[in-house]
Amino acid sequence: MAVRSRSSCAPNSGSERVVGATYITTCIGFGLACGVIGRIKGSSFFIWFLIGLVLNIFGLITALLYRFESDVPEIACPRCGKQCKAHDAVCMRCGAELDLRDVPGSPAASSGRLLSNG
Ligand SMILES: [Zn+2]
Repeated sequence: MAVRSRSSCAPNSGSERVVGATYITTCIGFGLACGVIGRIKGSSFFIWFLIGLVLNIFGLITALLYRFESDVPEIACPRCGKQCKAHDAVCMRCGAELDLRDVPGSPAASSGRLLSNG
């Protein structure tokens, strides 16, 4: 009569340790890849490293599909003159609300002009 051990967390299971080490290495690899891609696209390396670390292949796909920060049009803050990204709602320096109608080609700009032309 065989007694089956049901302990799934045996301390001396070498194969589980190898699988865990492989998984951690894979996570770090994806994290580094995402971080480098994010950095190339003008974002934070650390933020994208964390995304890749947690999401692995999905993080990598997200990093590849993410926009280039340099492609985002910039608008000047009406209060302090700082160049802000078009997707920012408020100025990061002085906190002034940014008028999206100033951005050429944005949906708010075209609808604003249509409304004002009446
Ligand atoms: Zn400002």
